Amino acid sequence: MNVKKGAKLYEGKAKKMYLTENPELLIQEFKDSATAFDGAKKGTIRGKGAINNQISAHLFRYLESYHIPTHFVRTLSDREMLVKKVEIIPVEVVVRNVVAGSLAKRLNEEEGRDLPEPLLEFYLKDDALHDPMITEEEILERGLATAQELEKIKRMALKVNAVLKDFFARRKLRLVDFKLEFGRHGGEILLADEISPDTCRLWDAETGERLDKDRFRRDLPGVVEAYREVHERVLGGPVV
Ligand code: ADP
Ligand code: UDP
Repeated sequence: MNVKKGAKLYEGKAKKMYLTENPELLIQEFKDSATAFDGAKKGTIRGKGAINNQISAHLFRYLESYHIPTHFVRTLSDREMLVKKVEIIPVEVVVRNVVAGSLAKRLNEEEGRDLPEPLLEFYLKDDALHDPMITEEEILERGLATAQELEKIKRMALKVNAVLKDFFARRKLRLVDFKLEFGRHGGEILLADEISPDTCRLWDAETGERLDKDRFRRDLPGVVEAYREVHERVLGGPVV
């Protein structure tokens, strides 16, 4: 079934969202552009859009098979997917299995220690405020989500982690940490946005090599190759 691409609703740093003839559905188009450090670093990762679209589609489908509701409807093209339009809850949910990134900085610790339990963190999605970390109480106080919604989001985020940690481990990838976004659709909370090497830290299980956006952040060579490697392991991995 053909989907007519309507007006551009939003253009972000990594994706564009388009209206369709159905008010319930959007087209999510993945771009090759990349940003880091709050937009201070900008660049292009050739082919990233298509790679992230395909990885995200695969992971959303896989999560649905574990009864995690997502916004994913179907793939439309190389770099486009059809998604359910949600009212985004403006909170970035970070799940961590290993000390890395901003947590390593905060703890003044080397990256790489396994956490005894997954850690959940919340950041306010607000570019002007530079996405500050916020507490659960503040999410409720600001009315960003109800207590019931927040409980559901926490449960879903931990389930996504459990499912994906195993999925990646079978592909010899260590799921260090990742960021999720959730939204409301028809009285339901759906997992939205994307899951890709842009939003996850993935380390090779044997060598510890970084196969994610940290290569871009840190000017390491082989950024495109790392994204391709993850694509190959995710899509060509053991049958799921
Ligand atoms: P940013 O806004 O941080 O630059 P992107 O370039 O990834 O991010 O833009 C995608 C935007 O679309 C994000 O703001 C995200 O919250 C939003 N979004 C993701 N999925 C949906 C959806 N299903 N419905 C509505 N908005 C969505
Ligand atoms: N992350 C993301 N978008 C953001 C911030 C973080 O996708 O705006 C992801 C990031 O790729 C990593 C995890 O969330 O997998 C934790 O990021 P961290 O807090 O360590 O911040 P960073 O080091 O990315 O600044």
